[in-house]
Amino acid sequence: MKILICNDDGYQAPGLVALHAALKDLGEVEVVAPEHNNSAKSNALTLHSPLYVHQGSNGFRYINGTPADCVHVALTGLLDYRPDLIVSGINNGANMGDDTIYSGTVGAAMEGYLFGIPAIAFSQVEKGWAHIEDAARIARELVQYLTQHHTTEGRPWLLNVNIPNLPYAAIKPTRVCRLGRRHAAEKVISQPSPHGQTMYWIGGAGAAKDGAEGTDFHATAQGHVSLTPLQVDLTDHDALPFWAQAAAQLGRSRP
Ligand code: MN
Repeated sequence: MKILICNDDGYQAPGLVALHAALKDLGEVEVVAPEHNNSAKSNALTLHSPLYVHQGSNGFRYINGTPADCVHVALTGLLDYRPDLIVSGINNGANMGDDTIYSGTVGAAMEGYLFGIPAIAFSQVEKGWAHIEDAARIARELVQYLTQHHTTEGRPWLLNVNIPNLPYAAIKPTRVCRLGRRHAAEKVISQPSPHGQTMYWIGGAGAAKDGAEGTDFHATAQGHVSLTPLQVDLTDHDALPFWAQAAAQLGRSRP
């Protein structure tokens, strides 16, 4: 079993260190992660500046790029093997509902999935790393189950997992969930810069709007681990007939 670990909080983040420590004896486990915090970088790739790979004193390799850069570079030339599994995280904070669109943690996993490799994104629900070792133990159990049951062979998959910040014994069993939805993000924060310009800081994520039973928000609020299988196809399949009709009318009205 060859496992590639990445994250979006940077190669020195406690969530990555704990995840690596929990997985390292499950096979050949290697880390290629961003040099700095790249949260909310989604699937961004760096196309207009060079990327450099360095090795930290902890043995982890790091790149001056995004989470997706790390996995992309690893899979397209840096590694001389193809990993069986990509594991991303453990992120500092939830990636539920709309977060999955912005998340660099999910972006790194998705990059592996796009290359046909099964991938998991792990996040802790609250920021601050409380009970990170317990979360890493949960991550290990899931990875071990998936590899022991040969789930990593065959058709690739992409899983988004959120773990409550609780002691191991208090974490309730994994629930398979759909993504919830958040309210619109909070207002942008503006401040004067020392040079007299106005600086803008992106506001926080909105609270849960759809946190109904069956969602990741609901499961984690009850103390469960949430697990959501993700897909990449953004097509609104239900809306195809409507837009086909609209396009046909547009075609007829063209002079
Ligand atoms: Mn992050």
